[in-house]
Amino acid sequence: MIRINENYAKLKASYLFADIARRVGAYAAAHPGRAVIRMGIGDVTEPLPPACVEALHAAAAEMSERATFKGYGPEQGYPFLRELISRHDYGERGCNVEPDEIFVSDGAKCDCANIQEIFAADARLAIPDPVYPVYVDTNVMAGRTGQAADGRYEGILYLEATESNGYVPGVPDAPADLVYLCFPNNPTGAVATKARLAQWVAYAKRNGAVILYDSAYEAYIRDPAVPHSIYEVEGARDVAIEFRSFSKTAGFTGMRCAYAVVPKSLTAPDGAGRPQALHSLWHRRQTTKTNGVSYPVQRAAAAIYTEAGRKQVRGLTDFYLGNARLIRAAMARLGLACAGGEDAPYVWVNVGRGSWEFFDLLLERAQVVCTPGAGFGRCGEGHVRISAFNSRENVEEALARIAAALG
Ligand code: PLP
Repeated sequence: MIRINENYAKLKASYLFADIARRVGAYAAAHPGRAVIRMGIGDVTEPLPPACVEALHAAAAEMSERATFKGYGPEQGYPFLRELISRHDYGERGCNVEPDEIFVSDGAKCDCANIQEIFAADARLAIPDPVYPVYVDTNVMAGRTGQAADGRYEGILYLEATESNGYVPGVPDAPADLVYLCFPNNPTGAVATKARLAQWVAYAKRNGAVILYDSAYEAYIRDPAVPHSIYEVEGARDVAIEFRSFSKTAGFTGMRCAYAVVPKSLTAPDGAGRPQALHSLWHRRQTTKTNGVSYPVQRAAAAIYTEAGRKQVRGLTDFYLGNARLIRAAMARLGLACAGGEDAPYVWVNVGRGSWEFFDLLLERAQVVCTPGAGFGRCGEGHVRISAFNSRENVEEALARIAAALG
């Protein structure tokens, strides 16, 4: 008789944003006249850059003519997009990433979720706390952890990001096989220096580990000293896979386009100790399980690399960073210390009390929704994440209400 995958039973009962939605829904039902401003969920609010819209229209026109119609495309993405990514996202930063090392996909979420399939079931995990929950939950589903106890799963080496380390975890003494890193970070907004990333690359080499580097928020980096890619660190091509997304770069959360870089020089041994190219495994996985991203969406993504597209993307990310600056300044006026918001669209606020308690307080007194840090892991307790993804009007109104409620 068929049985379920019982690893799913180990997952914590509900997803963080579902919990938040339930509390906000109950509040709104009890106070129908009060408009709630959502400063919690990390979804963009501003429309697509015009260059992307133009490219979408042109691609739709191509799809309408027999001569230019496109059916299935290459599973790994069209060469026109992979070449632009290679040249602009990497070549211009002095990193060598070949077009055929780039796998275009419909999201960094699914890439981060799916990549663990190509590694051994008993791979030892090192995962940050607090964390984007996908890294943990997908490994729980795959059976790489034990049960959860007190908010943590057995079998995961947690990399603690706290105020004392500037929310950037250092390399642990203990070994791990698969290391998840995310910079600029969700939820803390922290960024890693090149020196810190070099320590992680050295750790991976020492331990025969692979780093899974999520840089979905790369487009928000403004400090010229902060690395945009882990491949800016020498030797990283031998130990790291990198994930990027157009979601937050160009407002593509509803379009779906992202990519993973798997260098051809990156190998891991099989059971007999023979090195195997991870590029071949991921290629096999992707060509078997996906038919890729639609042609119009890839054309729209390619448009961000035009001169107009680049300016528009910069304008979009600058706009959200302007919101982040306002949020940081408002928190400072309230005497609350915060991280992030300078090279990232998230502000991580140390609220000096329980994070759900602060969430309830903001909802009750200011009708503003933030994200309780405890939902991202034990080290998130005492913090909330405030997102800069909103209209300027909403940000200003929310901050005024918070100041009146807490000032
Ligand atoms: N990685 C991180 C760290 C994220 O915060 C998110 C979205 O919130 C994603 C990946 C998902 O990106 P995508 O929209 O490309 O699936």
